[in-house]
Amino acid sequence: MTVASKMGPLTQYLFLACLINISYALYLSSHDSKYAGYLIKYGYLRRSSLRRQGGSTNVDDEDFSNALSNFQNYVQIPASGQLDDATKNMMTRDRCQAKDTSVGMRRRRYTTIGNWPKKHLTYKITQYSSKISQQEVDSIIFLAFSVWSDPSGITVTKRKGGRTDMEVRFDSIAPRADAHIYGNTNSRHKTTVITLNDGIDWSQDFSTGLPNLFQTASHEVGHALGLGHTEVVGAMMYPVYDLGIKIFGLHDDDKRGVEDIYSNVKTVSYPGRFIYKKNRNNIESTFNNFKDRITNSFGPMPDFENVNLPTEFFENGF
Ligand SMILES: [Zn+2]
Repeated sequence: MTVASKMGPLTQYLFLACLINISYALYLSSHDSKYAGYLIKYGYLRRSSLRRQGGSTNVDDEDFSNALSNFQNYVQIPASGQLDDATKNMMTRDRCQAKDTSVGMRRRRYTTIGNWPKKHLTYKITQYSSKISQQEVDSIIFLAFSVWSDPSGITVTKRKGGRTDMEVRFDSIAPRADAHIYGNTNSRHKTTVITLNDGIDWSQDFSTGLPNLFQTASHEVGHALGLGHTEVVGAMMYPVYDLGIKIFGLHDDDKRGVEDIYSNVKTVSYPGRFIYKKNRNNIESTFNNFKDRITNSFGPMPDFENVNLPTEFFENGF
């Protein structure tokens, strides 16, 4: 006679429920709980799925497997639902610090996190790189904003100081983190801050196998304009930086996303005035050198052909 058969129906039910509970809770080693932390941080797993018991961490087996499958689908690797080597490898790669999704969120081709209620935006650079010249940073950051202008109809003006919609700064942040963004497009009084990791030896032409500053900055600008991550490999808004994929311009997925979120925002004529600055030629030549360097390394880049330096960018100068 088993223990369960001696019990009344309710007790029997509770006993079985307890057994089921135990059999479906997965013990996580401290090594594996690091990966569970990743899934929580980027929006695939609810924190409540984890339980501390004694000195160990347990996770609901089904929640963990679902979270792994969703992550694997998102980053386009085989969806085993298991913590396999391909998944661990993907989780240790450099990536953007913004969430990919939220648990239970309806899946869309691209996600949005809001939009500015206007199309003319301003930014300033408040802290420069300790490794790349100020002039090059100015050009690359400008280029990163420019790639988004065409499909969205947005114009962006760099200011030297004062209040701006967006701010770009270089600072030391967590290892493996290329960049993060703080603030949102709907906040009227706060600036959206893009921080690029000054601890990284940024590549500027993709030849060193290190993260590329233009690519990362363009990705963060996509967030600053209101786009979330996409699961489309090769798009600017894909969350994990794959050093094998060189992205110089927007993927159709990025274009559709930004077109969609700004399609209802009226174009307001730009009220500013153009102020010519004597160092404009320097900026133009740095910008053109950057384009040439990329083109010489990788052949013609059609995306760059359409990028020009609009005059209003020079309002307030560099
Ligand atoms: Zn991101």
